[in-house]
Amino acid sequence: MKRISILGSTGSIGRQTLDVVREHGDLFSVRALAAYNNVHVLKEQIEEFKPHIAVLYDSEAARELMSEYHGATKILSGKEGLLAIASYSEVDMVVTSLTGFAGLEPTLAAIEAGKDIALANKETLVAAGELVMQRAAEKNVAILPVDSEHGAIYQCLQGNDKKSVKKLILTASGGPLRGMKKEQLAAVTVDKCMNHPTWSMGKKITIDSASLVNKGLEVIEAHWLYDMPYEKIQTVVHPQSIVHSLVEYVDGSVIAQLGTPDMRLPIQYALNYPQRLPLSVPKLDFWQIPNLTFEKPDFETFRGIDLAYAAGRQGGTAPCALNAANEVAVAAFLAGKIGFLDIYKIIEAVLENHQSEAATSLEVLQECDFKARALAQQVAADI
Ligand code: MG
Repeated sequence: MKRISILGSTGSIGRQTLDVVREHGDLFSVRALAAYNNVHVLKEQIEEFKPHIAVLYDSEAARELMSEYHGATKILSGKEGLLAIASYSEVDMVVTSLTGFAGLEPTLAAIEAGKDIALANKETLVAAGELVMQRAAEKNVAILPVDSEHGAIYQCLQGNDKKSVKKLILTASGGPLRGMKKEQLAAVTVDKCMNHPTWSMGKKITIDSASLVNKGLEVIEAHWLYDMPYEKIQTVVHPQSIVHSLVEYVDGSVIAQLGTPDMRLPIQYALNYPQRLPLSVPKLDFWQIPNLTFEKPDFETFRGIDLAYAAGRQGGTAPCALNAANEVAVAAFLAGKIGFLDIYKIIEAVLENHQSEAATSLEVLQECDFKARALAQQVAADI
């Protein structure tokens, strides 16, 4: 029985992780759950999965939950609560599905406590890839990607020597704005972005997918996860989201992983690696499958990928600044304060002003994040 905790259990990945647990209740036991402020859903999850500890980050929401729930699960709140369950002794694996930079500190705490990580919080690796991978190696902790592209690459690398990899090829659906030009993007609304053609996801990542910043973040994520130089990481638009990513080897062979676009697949692979389990998701029917197409991303219009490559190549704290700027920009866009193209403008302004330094500690990264957010907010307010 693998004992797991889920940081971000009421979000899209958290709920789908619980779907997987529900299907294999004999193999997984939920020991701890954490959410931001969703009292209602967390209470239902507590009643169903009976974790030892549950956390609501928001202290008011935690008080509300305590007044409504009187069972055996211990309720905690705040960052202390998150850190407590990240390092809880009765847990083998932590699923990190918090959104954004906020996931970094609990992820590091889980690594320090020797927990394997099922990583759904890509911002952690973007902002602090060097630190996270180094600490994970020192602690002999496995980092298993939940991101569908990285889960695919993980599978395509099995049984092969990493030295024989020519390149990693990350697929992108292109998102709901694929094919649009700058003039059209300037007027794009939040609703339009939310209408993702193939994946159902949380708000932040859905905007990131529309801007292709998500693919840029995933390039940096792949760089750290697979210790691959940026020139060996390529992106390709594949609108059907059936091929989840590919690895090209030196002999010209390309190995791909395919499946229906359903996050429960990479989640279950990460939870139970290296074993595979039956899973009740729709299966591919190759007699019915649509044509699979591939095209070069429109890098000039959707600048998210190139901005991420630039920050990644600069290294140090630059990717942390990029991530912070993007988080602020996406929040401002969701709040209707800026236009879609201003997302790139804010990221670019922050990167131009950023003095990159070695990303050697949590403190350095927290300070970088803080400063980059302040600058991004200022740029956003001036728009
Ligand atoms: Mg992805």
